[in-house]
Amino acid sequence: MNALPSDPIIAIATAPGRGGIGVIRVSGPDLRAWAESLCGQALQSRHAHYLPFRHRDGDVMDEGLALFFPGPHSYTGEDVLELQGHGGPAVLRRVLDDCLARGAAIGLRLAQPGEFTQRAFLNDRLDLAQAEAVADLIEASSTAAARSAMASLSGVFSAEIDALSERIVQLRMLVEATLDFPEEEIDFLEKYQAAERLDAVTATLDGVLRTARQGLVLREGLHVVLAGQPNVGKSSLLNALAGEDVAIVTPIAGTTRDRVIQQIHIDGIPLHIVDTAGLRDTDDTVERIGIERTWAEIARAQVILHLQDARHPDDPLDADIVRRLPAGTPVLRVLNKVDLTSGEAVRPDRGSGGGQGAVPGSGGGEAVPGDHGEIRISARTGAGLDTLRARLLHIAGWTPGAESPWLARERHVQALDAAREHLLLAREHASHSDQVLDLFAEELRLAHEALCEITGQFTSDDLLGEIFSRFCIGK
Ligand code: GDP
Repeated sequence: MNALPSDPIIAIATAPGRGGIGVIRVSGPDLRAWAESLCGQALQSRHAHYLPFRHRDGDVMDEGLALFFPGPHSYTGEDVLELQGHGGPAVLRRVLDDCLARGAAIGLRLAQPGEFTQRAFLNDRLDLAQAEAVADLIEASSTAAARSAMASLSGVFSAEIDALSERIVQLRMLVEATLDFPEEEIDFLEKYQAAERLDAVTATLDGVLRTARQGLVLREGLHVVLAGQPNVGKSSLLNALAGEDVAIVTPIAGTTRDRVIQQIHIDGIPLHIVDTAGLRDTDDTVERIGIERTWAEIARAQVILHLQDARHPDDPLDADIVRRLPAGTPVLRVLNKVDLTSGEAVRPDRGSGGGQGAVPGSGGGEAVPGDHGEIRISARTGAGLDTLRARLLHIAGWTPGAESPWLARERHVQALDAAREHLLLAREHASHSDQVLDLFAEELRLAHEALCEITGQFTSDDLLGEIFSRFCIGK
């Protein structure tokens, strides 16, 4: 764990640009004397003082509120001063520069991204999962994601992890006590019903893992690539899903020459939809580059929507495309322009999309790669689009209607997976003879350690650096 930093830090906490209010935040130990001299008056704790923000040369730069939060009852756990003035970049910059100049004597410096929250973590104001939830709340792109991030921030997720850890610790204590008295080892497993207890912990962990996977989908969404021949309606479908004209639609083949990415939400799940250049043989250099990029996008996709013209479902060129699609990525064949197929009603969906599955790379374990069957739609009339949306959520591993009580990150799911692996290995040792009690104990230790990584009790400085560097400045 890092040594606790002691140098005071400062940053503009509000977003860059112009706004009604701009906030500057300072955090450090023993800031009161400095803060009061900066503000030119005594500051009552946690009280809003309306005052002029005076430059060190005497002129008034701005006027607004000063709030002093003495540690440890502050966001960072240290003394915190907040100056709330007008939200213009020039005035904020001036107040910031003046604070820095007047703080030189106490070592005041600009904060790194996420450094306020990192201090909150280091001072035990938040655990690591909660600290991550701060960033996730700020970045949430849907109400559902914001609600779940807030639940994580309030500690719902951490409480589940702590409860699991606690149960593993109890088992560990029993085993390790037994290891000190070898004569008791013989009937340890039976005496303490170790196998049964282990099964119960594993079952709880499975439930947490399922919810975490949902939370991961909610946070990260799904990377969907629209692929197909020119003119099958890829751009039209993107526009229909987005509900606005983001891609150029023309009857001229080869219009989309570069990718267009649009983020849409279905049930609060963010979908990053990539429209690509149509796949065909071409002599046009620019179009060829576009087609190469399309294949690069297809290689990165979590789901491929292979669009075809419903009037020519057996086009040999589509068979060529199918042959080149990466194995292991879910592919949904989308037959578009059903409105032009004479008299044929939209057939019910068929195909293999019935199984529950998550998507590779989204951290889900039960990926259902490959063929997800076909659906028939019309980007023009909107027929079949609801089914398409539902199918996409299904492939993402999202259970509609199931609230995700917290947001999760890939690393949380990985840690839960690792903990689960160790519990299963421990279980295996438990079903053998008692000779392997020390191995049983070791697997429990590793499972416990994996869970602690989530809340940050055992986390390398590198990982901490990586997590906090992704925050915005001032948070
Ligand atoms: P892309 O090249 O695959 O992106 O195809 P576009 O979206 O540019 O569409 C090519 C042409 O097909 C345009 O004239 C669209 O208006 C038309 N189109 C797209 N989807 C449909 C559809 O569902 N029904 C009909 N009738 N026309 C469509």
